[in-house]
Amino acid sequence: MAIKPKNIIIISAFLLGILPFGLSALSWHAVEPYSLSIALLCSCGALLLAHISIVKMRRYQQKLEQSEEQLRLSLWGSGDELWDWKISSGQLYRSSTWLNPVAFLPDADDFPPNKQQIHPQDQARVCLLLQQHLDGKTDYFEATYRLKTTDQSWTWVLDRGKVVAFADNGKPSRMTGTLKNIQQLKQTEEQLQLFARCLHNISDAVVICDTDLIILDVNPSFTQITGKQRQDVLQQRFELTLYPSRFMQEIRKKLADNGSWTDEIEEQRQNGEVYQAELTIDQIKDEQGHVSQYVAVFSDITERKLREAELHRLASSDTLTGLPNRTIFMQRLRTLVDSRSEHALLVFDLDNFKKINDSLGHELGDTLLCKLASRLSQHSSYRDKLFRLGGDEFALLLEQTNDLAFITSLAKDLLAKINQPIQVQRHDLAITSSIGIVLFPEDGADPQALLRNADTAMYHAKSQGANRYLFFNDSMNKQAVKRLQIENLIRYGLKEDYFVVHYQPKMDIVTGQLVGMEALVRFNTPQGGLVSPASFIPVAEETGQIIEIGEVVLRKACRDVKAWIDQGLFHGRVAVNLSSRQFSLPFLCELIDDTLQQTELPSYHLELEITEGTVMQSPPQAIETMKKLRARGIHLAMDDFGTGYSSLAYLKQFPLNTLKIDKAFIDDMNNARGRNMVDTIMTIAHNLNLSVVAEGVEQQAQLEMLRKLRCDVIQGYYYSKPLNAADFYQFLLQQKQQRAKVMAVAIS
Ligand code: C2E
Ligand code: CA
Ligand code: CA
Repeated sequence: MAIKPKNIIIISAFLLGILPFGLSALSWHAVEPYSLSIALLCSCGALLLAHISIVKMRRYQQKLEQSEEQLRLSLWGSGDELWDWKISSGQLYRSSTWLNPVAFLPDADDFPPNKQQIHPQDQARVCLLLQQHLDGKTDYFEATYRLKTTDQSWTWVLDRGKVVAFADNGKPSRMTGTLKNIQQLKQTEEQLQLFARCLHNISDAVVICDTDLIILDVNPSFTQITGKQRQDVLQQRFELTLYPSRFMQEIRKKLADNGSWTDEIEEQRQNGEVYQAELTIDQIKDEQGHVSQYVAVFSDITERKLREAELHRLASSDTLTGLPNRTIFMQRLRTLVDSRSEHALLVFDLDNFKKINDSLGHELGDTLLCKLASRLSQHSSYRDKLFRLGGDEFALLLEQTNDLAFITSLAKDLLAKINQPIQVQRHDLAITSSIGIVLFPEDGADPQALLRNADTAMYHAKSQGANRYLFFNDSMNKQAVKRLQIENLIRYGLKEDYFVVHYQPKMDIVTGQLVGMEALVRFNTPQGGLVSPASFIPVAEETGQIIEIGEVVLRKACRDVKAWIDQGLFHGRVAVNLSSRQFSLPFLCELIDDTLQQTELPSYHLELEITEGTVMQSPPQAIETMKKLRARGIHLAMDDFGTGYSSLAYLKQFPLNTLKIDKAFIDDMNNARGRNMVDTIMTIAHNLNLSVVAEGVEQQAQLEMLRKLRCDVIQGYYYSKPLNAADFYQFLLQQKQQRAKVMAVAIS
């Protein structure tokens, strides 16, 4: 056990006091009495001295304890822990409670002491720093590293120490120091470093200002975006550096009200280049909630804005003509309607544009539209007023006017401008247009109604022969409603199979015998009434429903006729009407082949009636199709001859079998001029080797005249109205009986 200094003093004092007394006693008889007194005195002195030493020692002890307490308190206050390392013995004392207890490992490998508690990545560094200090190379030792805590997690510490004693050989024998837990500090520091790195690397410009909006700092992106150097803007007023001062009042107000301000700004870089930025200014508050700084963040959005503008341009303008598109038109119209003042809307499309597209190709059609749009928009009366709604449909918006004279003259001018020939790929195209006009607010309360009514007026202009303008009126709408009802009725009829076929006989004018019949479609209403095709065929033509109706008629006619042929009642041809839509179907021949195959009707029992209008839409193509049909043994008749183009030049090129003279000519035969006309047609037809059918023959007189003019076949009420399949069957039976009678008479 070690002997404490206090005990050493007491023992020494004791010895000092006893020794002279003992010596005196030993020589009692040899010395004088005064010598004994001196010895006693010496002993007392020695005891007194010992007592004094003890008192002093106690005081010293107290002071030491006091200063130790003070040290502990100040260490506790600073958050530091104390350590004391007796280098020679390897003992390490730590005051810390949050660190693992120190193990005593007087081992050469355990350097730094308790190495295992230092993070492996930090051990070498700590060791080096410690060794440097022990070698006298540094005045003190200082290292930050991770130590293992009692809960086995790593915590950052700041370790500072100094050699305080040396052994006789001059080597350090003792070292003491403090250990500070800097985990929190380290985390904060790391966070700050992270923020600083972010600010440094962020692509947005960041400007930090004081409460007077004086710039305190900027990041590198600020320089990159603005071209302004950091040192040149520090301590500058924010508004002078970046943003026009005229907005500052508003900015300050917004910041005071909401704590934040954001907007898009247009700025100039140092080199004068204009750029756009999205700027946000935010308040930064201190712990007391007082505004301590402002931070302005902005990004360069010039490219994004350009892209957006391009996208907007693409979305709002028509890519073909460059005119504003339907979306923009509807927005503009909505604005005008909302303004509640007077405006006019002209909607127009090109007459027969489909024909141009079909015959000359879509590319040429597109070029034509482009050239027309550019021609019109060059004109000051149309500039900024013209829109392309789609296809060949355009709109002209006349704002703040309902001056009919002005609108009329503009519509006439528009027709004239469109009608000027346009040269496209060596073609000089003279196109016409039909215009529908509506006035706001009279003709519609909202953009949709206005557009719908303008369309209605335009279709009326077309139906009145095209190349004209029409103002919308209410009766047009009634017709439009009716048209819609018919369209729905047709759809319903097709679904429910309400379309039936009636047959009208065609009689040989010489023999009076049945040679064929025309299949005529009827709509058999659910109530049992028949609807004449005159009321639904035009709508079906327009909507395209005629294609499906045509298929139904062809199938039913072929099926009926095949049955009558099989029963020996009929040997001729059934004539089926083909609409122009059907005729231009690319798969027309296949469709007919399929129907004939399914119904097992031989093709030579079929005749197709085509109008002049149909074949004249594209004569070369028509000739092609007609040749294909003829090659199948199908007969072809030209229907309503004389009412259309009547192109004799083409007539001889069409591979026809029959020519049907329209009822209008037959009706006109009661006068010489009419008779001559029929005579001429008859002569031409016979010269072209065509047989002639006269349609709509109602009277005996007409029959006689036609007989004289050597007409071949008669069709009309004179012989029979169109009959339903059951009645026509009876008609066929009668015909058979009559033939039998005639035969019997002939034989007898
Ligand atoms: P269309 O092809 O010229 O047919 C002849 C029309 O004249 C038929 O009218 C017929 O009933 C009528 N008619 C015949 N003889 C006389 C007569 O002596 N006096 C009078 N007043 N009329 C007579 P419908 O059946 O009303 O057909 C009208 C038009 O409808 C047809 O004219 C044809 O263009 C079209 N059509 C009829 N059925 C079809 C069809 O299945 N497909 C196509 N695409 N069109 C058809
Ligand atoms: Ca016909
Ligand atoms: Ca006809």
